[in-house]
Amino acid sequence: MSMIKISSKPLDVHHKGMKALDIAAKLSVDPSAIEAASRDFGHIVKAIPKAVLHPSTPQDIVALIKLSYHYSSVPFGIAAKGHGHSVRGQAMANNGVVIDMKSMKKHPNGTGIRVSTDGLYVDVGGEQLWIDVLNKTLEHGLAPVSWTDYLYLTVGGTLSNAGISGQTFRYGPQISNVLEMDVITGKADLMTCSPKKNSELFHAVLGGLGQFGIVTRARIPLEQAPKRVKWIRVLYSDFSSFTRDQELLISRNGQKDKNALDYLEGSLLMDQGSPNNWRSSFFPHSDHSRIISLITKHRIIYCLEVVKHYDYETENTVDKQMKQILQSLSYMPGFMFQKDVGYEEFLNRVRSGELKLDSQGLWEVPHPWLNLFIPKSQIFDFNNGVFRGIVLERNITTGPVLVYPMNRQKWDDRMSAVIPDEEIFYTVGFLHSGGFNDWEAFENQNKEIMRFCKKSGIMVKQYLPHYSTEDEWVHHFGSKWKVFRRRKHQFDPRMLLSPGQGIFNNN
Ligand code: FAD
Repeated sequence: MSMIKISSKPLDVHHKGMKALDIAAKLSVDPSAIEAASRDFGHIVKAIPKAVLHPSTPQDIVALIKLSYHYSSVPFGIAAKGHGHSVRGQAMANNGVVIDMKSMKKHPNGTGIRVSTDGLYVDVGGEQLWIDVLNKTLEHGLAPVSWTDYLYLTVGGTLSNAGISGQTFRYGPQISNVLEMDVITGKADLMTCSPKKNSELFHAVLGGLGQFGIVTRARIPLEQAPKRVKWIRVLYSDFSSFTRDQELLISRNGQKDKNALDYLEGSLLMDQGSPNNWRSSFFPHSDHSRIISLITKHRIIYCLEVVKHYDYETENTVDKQMKQILQSLSYMPGFMFQKDVGYEEFLNRVRSGELKLDSQGLWEVPHPWLNLFIPKSQIFDFNNGVFRGIVLERNITTGPVLVYPMNRQKWDDRMSAVIPDEEIFYTVGFLHSGGFNDWEAFENQNKEIMRFCKKSGIMVKQYLPHYSTEDEWVHHFGSKWKVFRRRKHQFDPRMLLSPGQGIFNNN
């Protein structure tokens, strides 16, 4: 099968309402703009919009939505495109208009990135990249507390999903770390919302898959930024010791608890030639052969990864603290690896892998990724049936596989994001890269994994979800579906926004 191409009819860009709203000059039908808006990081789906809007202000976005909402007898779909790092066309608008959010960055009258004078928060345009938020806040010795593994994603894009990483167990996802937002709804209303003001919109938008409004500003709380980090990986052959240690470590999760870890993740090491992968070159070359022997013997090795921040005041105590933490763990003796790096280098750790792959022409390739949340009570069934079953049998893994737990109490159930019901749940990410001709093998593996979960009664939820039928979406949202649908009718009654998610307007 080749790429899924969705055909298009011409958009009437000379609609009389458009002139009235004076945004025609900013709508582009330039073939290169259309082409760029038709693809994403996944390179699996292609949907062709009629035009691309390059806004300079939130008012341009208001004008565009007004045009579709008020003036068009057949409204057209509108998708904000952040950095296009979705993998299933979620930021596309077949036959509609894609808003190229990054063009807001070029204009001085946007929100930009503004640190408050008291240093308690930063106001950020929805189009801004997290790497730029980091760099700007570090100039003030400050930083947000919750991150994604990779920072070349936009604030609006990750807040539409959740924004998870190794900090989530302690600080919650990025959506739990927002004080206020400016949002343009599907009715073209520009509204400020927070937990106290227009709270229904606030909670709808966070994790809302772009369905309720376009985020033009988010207020993110800041803390003092640490200077450096102690970064440790330890290896396990035994899944129960691995998960027991992960769960022990995330049970210490008080935000002010000085003994808590600052980051915890985990991953699988399998027979891929090298224990390192594109996302990480952590293990020293001199240790590769003994790690590979271990993998050959056990077929899967589980790698726990933790980080503790430190600065001038704590540099004399951090090693002792880390030693104590490590003493409580049951990893394989002799398989502890450590690094000591600057805070920014740690947070931006995936970038060098990206640049390397890009230089080899291996970045812009199909990415049939599958990201899941799995309740703690079923993670052993998942390990036996999927990691030790399907994955080893198919033997086609060519990408990182992440597995780490988080705490439900750090999420806010009023928000749209969907997670399992149990207090502790795991995220598992199969981050495959395929060739243009062979990515379907990964897709078939993903389908088999989903079938296995269904058959075994594993109450899995997809993160960055992708479904093709309404029934599947209803099942995904579960008890949240009614609220999600009601909010859609309230904030986007003509179903204009983020059609590429395929929730209300499968196309
Ligand atoms: P886009 O793909 O452009 O858009 C995503 C969705 O959000 C679309 O529906 C779009 O219409 C909507 N949207 C975009 N901007 C706005 C806005 N301003 N207002 C409202 N809706 C908007 N995710 C994690 O949680 N943790 C990770 O560690 C992580 N690592 C990643 C690493 C890589 C290499 C990649 C490619 C992705 C990773 N992701 C991760 C997934 C990523 O968070 C999502 O794909 C995210 O949506 C990408 O952001 P984007 O700016 O590219 O959004």
